[in-house]
Amino acid sequence: MIILLLVLGLIMGSFFNVCIYRIPREGSICYPPSHCSNCSSTLRIRDIIPLLSYMYLRGRCRYCDEKISLTYPIIEVTTALVYMILYYKFSLSIEFFKYSFLWSILMVSAIIDYRTQYVYESISKVGFIGGIFFSLINLIYGGRIDHILLSLIIPLVFLGGIILLTRKIEALGLGDLELFIIAALYLSPTTMVVALFLSVVLGGIIAMAYLLKGYKRKSIAFVPYIALGTFLALIFEEKIIRWYFTITL
Ligand SMILES: [Zn+2]
Repeated sequence: MIILLLVLGLIMGSFFNVCIYRIPREGSICYPPSHCSNCSSTLRIRDIIPLLSYMYLRGRCRYCDEKISLTYPIIEVTTALVYMILYYKFSLSIEFFKYSFLWSILMVSAIIDYRTQYVYESISKVGFIGGIFFSLINLIYGGRIDHILLSLIIPLVFLGGIILLTRKIEALGLGDLELFIIAALYLSPTTMVVALFLSVVLGGIIAMAYLLKGYKRKSIAFVPYIALGTFLALIFEEKIIRWYFTITL
């Protein structure tokens, strides 16, 4: 099972690389076939085997020797690792598929947001459709609709609070809210609260570090923290809640 997940994760990661590269360039995900971004040579199967081709080509294009970005193998390995960790935590359950799907959407959006400061509708749409699909499955298996609604209300109340405090609608990007609402379709209310809490803390720490270094940027890409916060919430939810109550009570 672990080997299967490793292979599947690497292949999915390789597909996410294509999405991350092509979606901001408004390109089709299936056409044209994979090619080198430098010399435009069409890549053959042996050039696009996840991770392995990067290793035996020593990180360079076979045709023009241009360096291949290290982000490609990193995304492939990260995807495989996350799938394996989620399997370890949830075994082969609906939760496993649901959270693997959510993570995939968040990771692709996070990297595109980091590079372009944009959240693209095409990915959000897939996230919404998946979220509605998994919510329906949840309801069929005895899940409660008030729990789903509660999860959805949490990010809305949070955004409302931020707007009231800062008196600015754009304080948190609408794209960020969109992804919080997508995440809410997949997460229980408790996990949603922990995910939101962790995203804001992690994002806040990084924003502070930027400020201290005198780094002036109008806004930081927040989706990477939503992705990271959600992942940590899924894995460490109980521990984080226990820790929070031991330090506050
Ligand atoms: Zn090339």
